[in-house]
Amino acid sequence: MTKFNNYINGVLTPSVHAHTFQNVNPADTDDIIGHFPISSEQEVHAAVLAASNAFISWSKMPAPKRGDILRKAGDIFTRRKEELSAIMTREMGKPLFETLGDIQEAIDTAYYAATETRRLFGYTAPSEMDNKMNMSFRTPIGVCGIITAWNFPIAVPSWKILPALACGNTVVFKPSEDSPHSAHIFAEILEEAGLPAGVFNVVYGDGSTGSALVENPAIKLIGFTGSTFTGKKIAERCGALNKKCSLEMGGKNAQIVMPDANIDLALDGVLWGAFGTTGQRCTATSRLILHKDIYDSFINALITKTTQIKLGNGAHPNTQMGPVINAKQLEKIQHYVAIARSEGATCVIGGDVEISGDCAKGHFYKPTIFIDVTSDMTIFKEEIFGPVLAVTKANSLDHAIELANNCDYGLSSSLFTGNVDAAFRAIRDIEAGITYINAPTIGAEAHMPFGGIKGTGNGHREGGWTAFEIFTEWKTVYVDYSGSLQRAQIDNY
Ligand code: NAD
Repeated sequence: MTKFNNYINGVLTPSVHAHTFQNVNPADTDDIIGHFPISSEQEVHAAVLAASNAFISWSKMPAPKRGDILRKAGDIFTRRKEELSAIMTREMGKPLFETLGDIQEAIDTAYYAATETRRLFGYTAPSEMDNKMNMSFRTPIGVCGIITAWNFPIAVPSWKILPALACGNTVVFKPSEDSPHSAHIFAEILEEAGLPAGVFNVVYGDGSTGSALVENPAIKLIGFTGSTFTGKKIAERCGALNKKCSLEMGGKNAQIVMPDANIDLALDGVLWGAFGTTGQRCTATSRLILHKDIYDSFINALITKTTQIKLGNGAHPNTQMGPVINAKQLEKIQHYVAIARSEGATCVIGGDVEISGDCAKGHFYKPTIFIDVTSDMTIFKEEIFGPVLAVTKANSLDHAIELANNCDYGLSSSLFTGNVDAAFRAIRDIEAGITYINAPTIGAEAHMPFGGIKGTGNGHREGGWTAFEIFTEWKTVYVDYSGSLQRAQIDNY
């Protein structure tokens, strides 16, 4: 049995105690990948101390030199793409074509962050005084604690870690307990790229380890991706401790289809949006809002296409949909399906676990569709994070948008239509951080802002240039070369 160690100050550091967790293949629960430590407060402290010490020189290194290391990391991710894809599929289940995409997102982010190190622009503005110059520039924040979910084991951490490093911060990373092996490889890649010891550290563990990271006084910022439940708890603590905190949380995303849409395209869109990554994306399409004129015909076609989805171990090349992540998540899905039935929604396909053939040893759930879902039902409102789609009928575009907005979350959204006026109205009126026109609710690109409103976020955006807003502070500088005391607001007026 492979035993994995924390990565602290550039060294794989054995845990000082015996508390560990198992990393298990969700497609085959007999396949144990390894044991990882549940890191204690002391171990978190050791990692934070290493990151604090490393900050002194890393923050002073010219930003483009830091960029050179990130570019090299992008090259190594590219070289190890296939190998890492297999590791990721084994530990979290999504098919190989998806894990390859996950790593590509990190490659894109690495190259983008490297380029941005030459573009960490500040502002200058004229002074109101004679012989005085005003300017402002970005400075790093310090040691950043990064805590993430498991569904994008490389991509999501890369969105935070690589911009944080580009800006001159150092990092302690607490990956999800369901995808620790990918984090281990992340550390290997950054080390090979030439990152100095202590700049990036990994501590494994559960919520208690994450909480120790939040509480550590030397942590200046928490970058979090996970459930709204956990995110709110972290935000409360960060508020009390006066730490910067950026949150990417849950979603309940809707795809709207109008009668004038390209229906085949809309069908492909919802199949990928609802059942890609087994519905375990923050941006997954969990609600489908159909105009009444196409309601029945669209559902019939959707059922036919859904029956063709090939479930199985993500490591097999023909698999289209892998397992759900663990037994707890499987139970959660079953719980929501039972509620949906009891509240009067009609299950037209799926609605049960899959235990036949290739799926016998894993956590598999059939792609599931409920129709006649109304806005007061639980499956319309709450995030399930599984392959369960709730279909609702709308009378008009306005009604469809009203339904889409009738939700505590605000991450992604989509409208399929052939009408340009309808498209622009939806872009304006849908309450979400991301709106797709004639594309599914999933498919973010690394160089564009990513994040949501309402219960999904707290005002920050990852991805693209906006990530650099999270990981820097502003320093404002006034240089007075008049040789006399000039009092702002007083001497000029
Ligand atoms: P989760 O909230 O249970 O866990 C996320 C991380 O937080 C894990 O690393 C966990 O160990 C840690 N954690 C748990 N309790 C903690 C505490 N008290 N203090 C500090 N850390 C703690 O989420 P999950 O089940 O791993 O992931 C699924 C959720 O993530 C879904 O809600 C999904 O929508 C969301 N998600 C959001 C995005 C986004 O960008 N908006 C992306 C991916 C996933």
